[in-house]
Amino acid sequence: MTSSPADLIITGCTVLTHDDHDRIGFEEDAAIVVRGGVVESVTSAAAAADLAAAERIDARGQVAMPGLINCHTHAPMVALRGVAEDLPTEEWFNDVVWPMESNLTARDVELGARLACAEMIRGGVTCFADHYFSMDEVAAAVTECGIRAHLGEAYFSSQGAQGREKSLEFALRHRGGTGGRITTALAPHAPYTVDDADLAATAELAREHGLPVHIHASENREQTDISLARHGVTPIQVLERAGLFDADVLIAHGTGIIDRDLPVLERAAGEVAVATAPRGYLKFAWPTTTPVRALREIGIPVGLATDGAASNNSLDVWESMALTALIQKSTTGDPRWLTSRQALHHATLQSARAVGLGETIGSIAPGRRADIVLVDLTGPHTQPVHDLAATLVHSARSSDVRTTIVDGHVLMRDRELLTIDLPSAVRELGERTPALLDRSHGRRIQDYQT
Ligand SMILES: [Zn+2]
Repeated sequence: MTSSPADLIITGCTVLTHDDHDRIGFEEDAAIVVRGGVVESVTSAAAAADLAAAERIDARGQVAMPGLINCHTHAPMVALRGVAEDLPTEEWFNDVVWPMESNLTARDVELGARLACAEMIRGGVTCFADHYFSMDEVAAAVTECGIRAHLGEAYFSSQGAQGREKSLEFALRHRGGTGGRITTALAPHAPYTVDDADLAATAELAREHGLPVHIHASENREQTDISLARHGVTPIQVLERAGLFDADVLIAHGTGIIDRDLPVLERAAGEVAVATAPRGYLKFAWPTTTPVRALREIGIPVGLATDGAASNNSLDVWESMALTALIQKSTTGDPRWLTSRQALHHATLQSARAVGLGETIGSIAPGRRADIVLVDLTGPHTQPVHDLAATLVHSARSSDVRTTIVDGHVLMRDRELLTIDLPSAVRELGERTPALLDRSHGRRIQDYQT
């Protein structure tokens, strides 16, 4: 160990760790030493007592865990939180969201992204995968507030080749940006809005430039049934046929993945991951959920997500973790499936793998980026603690996160946001709301066809 002071030492906490077989463990009365934005060591509190540090956090009574990762969202859509309630998917898109999104300005996106980052940092999220428009503004918000992000400029084939080219240009320009906190992807919207030729061209660009692809696919069972009726293949088979699985692909939702898709996905294991955002599936009354158990059997990581707040109403990944565990038990009829430790594995390493950062984040271990949250378990709803994994998944809430750290920098301390002026973002967004919600023009950015 070097003799110069560490940048940060977090001491006295219980640390969530992973062993060589990915199994979740907990080290009590431990300390985390951070230097240069990276975890240098996880040691005992006693061993760290005499080490010099520029900053020291006394975290007794708290659990240090890897920051949560929101593997699929549309952060700026917080501006539309609650505007399209209790509607079927088609009406949600065609009658409300896509007409309103035709009003979006870059400033709306920037303010929405700031509000979203504030919500996520407060909820213990240290990285999010975003899929939206005017992504330069999202990148600016990420740079400013210190969070980590995996960003893609979304496109439809109705934009012509320009949409795809803009997505590529964004991905190349921002790749590795903001001191490495920003990674990028190509972001075709979905197989029902991006045609086969455009998907094939996307696959070619992904190969040529070594870029991953982030796309909605098999979002629900109805999409799969319609694809089969019209084209004789499922949306997953459409992606394979386009050559997309030669690149790394992050599939949002996949609740419409059926048995015939599994061999296709298994051939792409190592390249493909799925993000599950269960609250929205319940709200849209979709009949199925992401087949997490079947995906596990073929080696496909499943990361946790919220989707946008216009459908999900929150960016609370903690809730996605608890809901994933509960819905998996319910849909498989097996209370032994998706234990709290498995849920924590999805929330940590599997989510990191889903966003292409499986070697960088998702675990508190030497050499990993210091993306850490401190969770206070002293509240009455989390005491006593008999099974720490169960306490974290089923009793704790996102509001129990006291401190959020990314790359060794404290973004929230004792629930206070240090890098975002939230009141000013909320105020200006409120002033812009009437123009954003106006649907009198009769335009929409795209049609959702069933
Ligand atoms: Zn989405």
